[in-house]
Amino acid sequence: METRSERQVMKTQVLVLGGGAGGVGAAISAAREGAETILVDRQGFLGGNMTIGLPLLAFLDAQGRQVTRGLPQEIVDRLIELGGSFGHRECPLHNSTTVIDPNLMKIVIFEKIKQYGVRPLLHCEIIGTNVENGELKSVILKGKGKEIEIFADVFVDATGDGDVAFMAGAEYEKGQYANGETQPPTLMFTVGGFNLERFMDFLEEHPEELKHGTSMKIRPGYTADFLRASENHVFVGLKNTITKLRKEGKCPIDRDTIIYINLPREGYIALNCIRILNFDGTKIEELSRGEIESNLQIIPLINMLKENIPGFEHIYLSSIAPFLGIRETRRILGKQMIREEAAVNGVIPEDTIALGSYIIDIHSGSGDSTLIRSLTGPYGITYGATISKDVKRLMLSGRCISVDPVVFGSSRVMPTCMAVGEGVGIGAALAVQQNRAPEDVDVQSIRQKLREYGAILSLEDDNVVKA
Ligand SMILES: Cc1cc2nc3c(=O)[nH]c(=O)nc-3n(C[C@H](O)[C@H](O)[C@H](O)COP(=O)(O)OP(=O)(O)OC[C@H]3O[C@@H](n4cnc5c(N)ncnc54)[C@H](O)[C@@H]3O)c2cc1C
Repeated sequence: METRSERQVMKTQVLVLGGGAGGVGAAISAAREGAETILVDRQGFLGGNMTIGLPLLAFLDAQGRQVTRGLPQEIVDRLIELGGSFGHRECPLHNSTTVIDPNLMKIVIFEKIKQYGVRPLLHCEIIGTNVENGELKSVILKGKGKEIEIFADVFVDATGDGDVAFMAGAEYEKGQYANGETQPPTLMFTVGGFNLERFMDFLEEHPEELKHGTSMKIRPGYTADFLRASENHVFVGLKNTITKLRKEGKCPIDRDTIIYINLPREGYIALNCIRILNFDGTKIEELSRGEIESNLQIIPLINMLKENIPGFEHIYLSSIAPFLGIRETRRILGKQMIREEAAVNGVIPEDTIALGSYIIDIHSGSGDSTLIRSLTGPYGITYGATISKDVKRLMLSGRCISVDPVVFGSSRVMPTCMAVGEGVGIGAALAVQQNRAPEDVDVQSIRQKLREYGAILSLEDDNVVKA
């Protein structure tokens, strides 16, 4: 009996690898500019972490100004039309919350990639790269037992983990500079049967449950009244109760607070609470450990909430996210790197392709705490931070762009990843049209197009609006 080995060869202008926030942004944007674009993902759907119950954070900056718009806004607008989002709301803790329905997000992304002519290749794992003289020539995928080799003019690594850059030999960093620790992963899950009013009554009686540790400096106003005033909220708290339950051995999770996202479906919340410590999301054994340990924490966690927290008495498991959410792995070194000093001082250079404004939010990789640092205003993510310094024709989008570990605590949020992707997609398409390397494209022409699509690139832009 002979074994079978089938191989298919394809060619495209722009090949985007990974269909999360960064990849969807880049692929739609490249196709919108007229580039023939393929978008690859290992899942049977697109959206990555945008489909696991998380809210889109920080469309607005700490002063309530909208600093991310363009394509990310177009997606939110469609979600609003479908009843899958309430839009943006200022939040003293997160700058702003944009709660979304994860199922509708999948549908909206499919609508948009059809509308703009992106060709999706789903159910494909990226398994290799072909690099000649430092230039990426093709990427190899495997799906249904067959190999597909895709040649492209420009490649965009939007795998989150920087898998393509890693395979192609690009230099990268991983974890905090001090100890190499990466932020822990979380398996998201949703519950139904949540009684919001009852929980809000409890918080009103126990305002101390909304007090956060000294490492979590948040602006005043994060109160029960603020949460009750709108369904568009993300709750972070219950520190006293969780501390007590952990001392009594009744809490299954390694963190000091509970986070829930109030989904746009009455009685449904998504829980962002599980934390797997000392974890490396680039190792398959670790991913397996993380998936199993996380799943096994869900029922004890639900029972703990049911038995101890008013409003949670009747919750039941509704859905478990299709994969463990990985916060942090590799950051690929680009032609430029966005560093802490520039971000905290709100530096917005002339070659900025997206603004970041989310707080610096670093979940401990080995303990129960979270370090939060506010930013006074937005900072610029420059085009050079999205181009691999080592591998020609390779661009980066999403969380694996070239930032230091502190800036990563901010730039990792999904609206920023999508906005970066929008700039990368235009850069990739112009590189193809002008037969140039991505780094040789005039950044001002990318910025002009971004502005035409409604993106916000500086605080002086006429279009910076108070939401
Ligand atoms: C638990 C958790 C909570 C978070 N909370 C928030 C929040 O509240 N709000 C917020 O805005 N951000 C939040 N973030 C951050 C944010 O979700 C991510 O940083 C962001 O989604 C990264 O986008 P990305 O496109 O780079 O990666 P992803 O969204 O991870 O997308 C990567 C895509 O690439 C595909 N892929 C990866 N490797 C391969 C491969 N080898 N072959 C084929 N396909 C591959 C994956 O299937 C996936 O679809 C959170 C992250 C986590 C994990």
